[in-house]
Amino acid sequence: MEASNFIENIIIGDLESGKHKDIVTRFPPEPNGYLHIGHAKSLCINFGIKEKFKGKCNLRFDDTNPVKEDVEYVEAIKEDIKWLGFEWDEERYASDYFEQLYQYAVLLIKKGLAYVCDLSAEQIRETRGTLAEPGVESPYRNRSVEENLKLFEQMRQGKFADGEKVLRAKIDMASGNINMRDPVMYRILRAHHHRTGNDWVIYPMYDFAHPLSDAIEGITHSICTLEFEDHRPLYDWFVKNCEFKNPPQQIEFARLNIKNTIMSKRYLKRLVDEGIVEGWDDPRMPTLSGMRNRGYPPQAIKNFCAMVGVAKANSEVDDKLLDHCVRDYLNVNAPRAMIIERPLKIIIENWEEGRTEEITLQNKPGDDSGGTHTVRFGKEVYIDQRDFSLNPPPKYHRLVKGGMIRLKGAYILKYSSVDLAEDGSVKAVRCNYIEKSKSGEENSKIKVKATVQWLNCEDAVKCKLYKYSSLLVDESEGKSDFDERINPNSLEIVENALVEPFLLEEKIGNCYQFIREAYYKYARNEGGIPVFYRITELKDSYKIPTP
Ligand code: ATP
Ligand code: MG
Repeated sequence: MEASNFIENIIIGDLESGKHKDIVTRFPPEPNGYLHIGHAKSLCINFGIKEKFKGKCNLRFDDTNPVKEDVEYVEAIKEDIKWLGFEWDEERYASDYFEQLYQYAVLLIKKGLAYVCDLSAEQIRETRGTLAEPGVESPYRNRSVEENLKLFEQMRQGKFADGEKVLRAKIDMASGNINMRDPVMYRILRAHHHRTGNDWVIYPMYDFAHPLSDAIEGITHSICTLEFEDHRPLYDWFVKNCEFKNPPQQIEFARLNIKNTIMSKRYLKRLVDEGIVEGWDDPRMPTLSGMRNRGYPPQAIKNFCAMVGVAKANSEVDDKLLDHCVRDYLNVNAPRAMIIERPLKIIIENWEEGRTEEITLQNKPGDDSGGTHTVRFGKEVYIDQRDFSLNPPPKYHRLVKGGMIRLKGAYILKYSSVDLAEDGSVKAVRCNYIEKSKSGEENSKIKVKATVQWLNCEDAVKCKLYKYSSLLVDESEGKSDFDERINPNSLEIVENALVEPFLLEEKIGNCYQFIREAYYKYARNEGGIPVFYRITELKDSYKIPTP
């Protein structure tokens, strides 16, 4: 088997050496917010390993901090993972292990490797030392095993106030690694937990709960982001001293950072709480639910993660790459349709009053498997105002005085005259159509400057367009403060655009390429008026980096 990154290399080595027969990974979110695009990278790595090595991947909620966690987040996280197309083997919760974790803490106390400490959080911080200086040992460090066992049990029983005591690992206050200077394992906290309710008044710290949860589940490779590299000695210390055979191996990779994109849940929560966006799933949010709402195809997100790759060094990915992957996918998969944003009426003088013709359009040009739909052609049609000019600038290749254009899938029109309003603006353009000029007919070879989208005036359906752009202004504009960087124009709503009528019959959620405009998702129907969200523009501005 071929490794596609350094993590897979380690796994292949472990399979070959016989260290592991079956590979088990996990995705361990804390249910304190919605998943964002950074989590997609971790999901792709962990579930990718499961798929490639026919192993298992658990979904484990690391729910050890009841104050910030909620079932709303648990449900949202599950939905997002399913949407990406991943299936977890077991759904676990660190809180499932609270009793076991307690027993492991008791084991460490019995081994003389943990003690109850009465120092306050502030005193613990002050005595931790610095990179240059060792820490100071706690005066409670040498309590007897019996006393520690009794005090720890009393902590559990609620005999002490919040923050009055903690349980600490007894490791080395002079360690070069600050994480090893007697870290806190348990704290007293009276808070309602979304799963265990009020059963517990002590909660394990992440650094203790996480490695042991991995070990209890038989995780073979515990994959996490680089900031946990310094925690690895502690991870190993806990699993070793709790006497796990064949313990999991922690492997760190570089987290995904994207230019002009904020992924920290703390900030995302602020955007939601302050009403800057409509919710965690606002189409502008870098969350998976936001992207789903916006119309990003899940496969495009997976392709993006594959293109970014898995590295050991932090870097920042161009924000246009994700856009590029979305466009790439939709270009192949999205059916085409016609929309007119700024209608301009064309009157076809040589078309008989009342005559209509049904025109069949391929949903995907050049691909019969995409199916077809029909539009009616009649005496009056709309084109976009931008596709006609009385005073054309240089290199203008659309309809001009005396010129010709082709209507997509229909006839060639030749300019005849223009109806002007009193203020000189164009009310309508009069044209003549050229007979037998549809594709494949004898006059279809006539050279025209452009093919444009159009709608039959009688049939055009009014619609609303939501045009999204980046939530943050580009960092190159020199603004570094989060509040200053919020783009006040990240949503533009176009009220009176027009679309082809067949879209009314389509499924909500479908994505389209509105030709010559952009990719849009059919988001909802507001009392007969379809609303479309702009997924991304047609033009790709992603520049492939030169190596
Ligand atoms: P944030 O810092 O954005 O709040 P987090 O790391 O606290 O995120 P968790 O719920 O703890 O979020 O993350 C679950 C998993 O996703 C962890 O294994 C974490 O390392 C991984 N993860 C989170 N953010 C990223 C990212 N930007 N790139 C890659 N993996 C990430
Ligand atoms: Mg976290």
